[in-house]
Formats: sequence, C-alpha cells, structure tokens
Amino acid sequence: MHADAPVVDRHARPLGVLRLSLTGRCNLACPYCCPDGDEPPGLLSLEAQLAVVRAACGLGAQTLRLTGGEPLLSDRLWPLLETIAAARVDAADPIHALQQVTLTTNGVLLTPQRAGQLKALGVARLTVSLDAAEPEAAAQMAGLQGGASAGERLLVQVTAALDAAVQAGFDPALGQLKLNSVIQRGHNDDQLIPLAALARDRGIELRLIEYMDVGNRNGWSSEQVLPAAEMVKRLQARWPLEPEGRADHATASRWRYRDGGGVLGTIASISEPFCGDCNRLRITADGQAFTCLFAAEGVDLKPWLTPVVDRDGLFKTMAALWQQRGDRYSELRAQVGNGSSHAEMAYLGG
Ligand code: SAM
Ligand code: SF4
Repeated sequence: MHADAPVVDRHARPLGVLRLSLTGRCNLACPYCCPDGDEPPGLLSLEAQLAVVRAACGLGAQTLRLTGGEPLLSDRLWPLLETIAAARVDAADPIHALQQVTLTTNGVLLTPQRAGQLKALGVARLTVSLDAAEPEAAAQMAGLQGGASAGERLLVQVTAALDAAVQAGFDPALGQLKLNSVIQRGHNDDQLIPLAALARDRGIELRLIEYMDVGNRNGWSSEQVLPAAEMVKRLQARWPLEPEGRADHATASRWRYRDGGGVLGTIASISEPFCGDCNRLRITADGQAFTCLFAAEGVDLKPWLTPVVDRDGLFKTMAALWQQRGDRYSELRAQVGNGSSHAEMAYLGG
C-alpha cells in the first residue's frame, strides 16, 4: 500500500519517522523514566511489526528508529532486522523506501559482537544513553543500588559499548554514534562538564535532553528542568560554542565548539518546543499508536494485526490517524498545565 500524495496531519506535518518500541522492559531503572518490570500483554509478532513498518513507509516514513524499554533485551530485534534488511533491497516492498534504520540503547548489552551484528544488518546510526560520567551520579541516574561501585561498572560497560560501536564502523564524525543525556536539575546537572568532556574526547556528539513530563510515575516538576539555554551557558563558560540551529523535523538544536572540539546538541522539548514540524509516529511493543510523546492513550492497532494481518485496514487506519493528528502538547503545556496524565516513557520508547 502506498499513499498517492504525501500524507500530512492537521498542521500540514508529514510523517517521517516511525519509532517502534520492541519491549517495555529494561535492564536499568532510571528514576526519571520508570520502566515496568513486565512486558505489556500481547506483544506484536514479527509479522505484525513488519506490517506496521510497511504501512508507515507507505505513508511516508523514511526513518525507522528501534527503541524500548531496552531494545537489546528483546530477542525479537534480530529477526526483525534480518527481515527488514532483506525487504529494503526489494523494490516491490514498501520497506524499500526506508532511508535509515537506527537504534537507541542504554549500551549495557552493546558488546562488540552485537555492535557488529547491528552494522551488518544495516543499522545506520546508534544513540547510546548515559546521564553521568562520574560513578555515584551514574548509579543514581540509572536507578542502580550499590552506589559508586555500581556506577563504575555501568560506566565501564557503556564506555566499552561506545568503543565497540566505533570498532564496528559507527563513525561519530558522520553522526552515526551519538550520546544522549537527560539533565535533571539538582540530580545530575553537575555532570554537564564531565559528560561533555567524555563525548569530546571520543569525538561523539552529546545531546543534552531537558527532563520531560512524560509518564506519571517520575514525579516530574518544572523545578527539575534545567532549560537548554542554561545548559549551554554553563558549557560556554568552559568551551565557547557557536549556534548552528535546528534542522527541519529534528529534535536537537546544534552547537559547534569554537575550539574544534566537535558538535553538541540540545533537545529543548520543554523550554523551546518543536511541535511545529514534528514528524514522528510512535508504536509501542503491544501495537498502540501514539502521535505525540505526551499523549495519555494510544490507538490500538491490534484489531488489524491479529489474529491475521489486515494490510489494507491497517494502512487506512494509520493514514486516518495521521491525517486527524492535531497534537502540539509541548507548545500548549503552559496553558494545559501539568495535571494531565501521560503514558510512561519506557512504554512509549522515548
Ligand atoms: N533504553 C533505551 C535508552 O535509554 O536509550 C531506549 C529507550 S529510552 C525511553 C529513550 C530515551 O528517552 C533515552 O535517551 C532516555 O534518556 C530518554 N528519556 C527517558 N525518560 C525521559 C524523560 N522523562 N525526559 C527526557 N528524556 C527521557
Ligand atoms: Fe531503561 Fe532507557 Fe528508561 Fe533508562 S531511559 S530506564 S535505560 S528505557
């Protein structure tokens, strides 16, 4: 199935990115994210996942981002990647339209062997999440018991994962490997400089994410948000930065270190919302479609996915869902207030 004309939503935004969550579970327990211990019932089969990817491609998606929970925990990752790799070279398959497949991971399970497999199966870019460069803070931000020694183990694992990714051919200079850090005021804002130093030493773009009001369990409050402008100000004091702006449909605004130390990104979803050109559709591991990260509920696609896949019905449902989309929660946050309920981040996939 393929739309004859580009499908746009009520604000003329095209669909560009499908974020597909493979699992709701995680091997970390970051308190700002709060993953469930159990999978949601009714995980999508491989056939259903592929049907969703095909329908999204037919509606204009060019990027597939695999996420979770922790996607490397899921044994459904590998068959999915193998099938997608084969479909991408088949001109008759809607998946042929995919320009890139990417993956977001906390890095704990990203061994040299897995990094090599991801590269071999056509994953173009990896984003690794790490919220501190010092042991005590790393343990706290990841929800690990055991204080500094647990944090030290995590740092060893994640820095080894970054090395493994580079060894496998994910070139940070080409934006194929990035580091994501959520910054929570009063929790890890003292990690800004250490994180930037870690990323600069490795030539990796660090993307600093404002703490977002996704989910209901993390006790979000606006006092815990460090605005991106403040993050940049603190970094500027150490390494002067030049603004490069935000590309169309991108989440990150980019800054270049004046001393040649590479690039930094800031994701200012709270202080400078970018709903205006948001092109992302999120599908959870159990087949709920969310057209906004801050939504309370998704649309259940399972009636078109089980017991057998109804490709036509699925395509029409997803097309209608996108065409009816009017979400711009982040732009309206100040008016709506933060009383509204949200689905959890690890379920949505970030
Ligand atoms: N486990 C993987 C990881 O950590 O990269 C993938 C899933 S995780 C939900 C995706 C991204 O969402 C991570 O970079 C994480 O830091 C970010 N995230 C989770 N909760 C957040 C929050 N409340 N505000 C901002 N970013 C958040
Ligand atoms: Fe797990 Fe990623 Fe959530 Fe941390 S942010 S608990 S690593 S899903």
